[in-house]
Amino acid sequence: MIDCLFCRIVARESPADIEYEDDAVLAFKDIYPKAPVHVLIVPKHHVTSIQTMTADDVDVIGRCLLAARTIGERKGFGERGYRVSINCGPDGGQVVGHVHFHFLAGRRGG
Ligand code: AMP
Ligand code: ZN
Repeated sequence: MIDCLFCRIVARESPADIEYEDDAVLAFKDIYPKAPVHVLIVPKHHVTSIQTMTADDVDVIGRCLLAARTIGERKGFGERGYRVSINCGPDGGQVVGHVHFHFLAGRRGG
């Protein structure tokens, strides 16, 4: 078993401020927000990075984006918009090795 912070959050073994959940996806507030609204959206099953994702992960990655849409609409950014980004690997700025979408809103450019 890998020791993964975001898997621990999914398993409710580490605390998080949960913003959205369905059977495949969990979203929670980033503890060091870089915008007025900063939510991390993760697949519930462990995928390390876009660099290593496989065809089996395509559905859940798409569902993360659908969750971004839902979060945006719930928080009133459906029309104004928001930024969704993924850091991939060390040179891409990825620190946590469980793939995650940054949802940033409330400021122009995220
Ligand atoms: P990245 O640099 O793309 O890997 O982003 C990792 C993000 O996870 C950073 O924005 C951190 O602020 C955030 N983060 C780290 N630990 C936690 C935690 N326990 N709960 C919520 N967000 C976290
Ligand atoms: Zn994980």
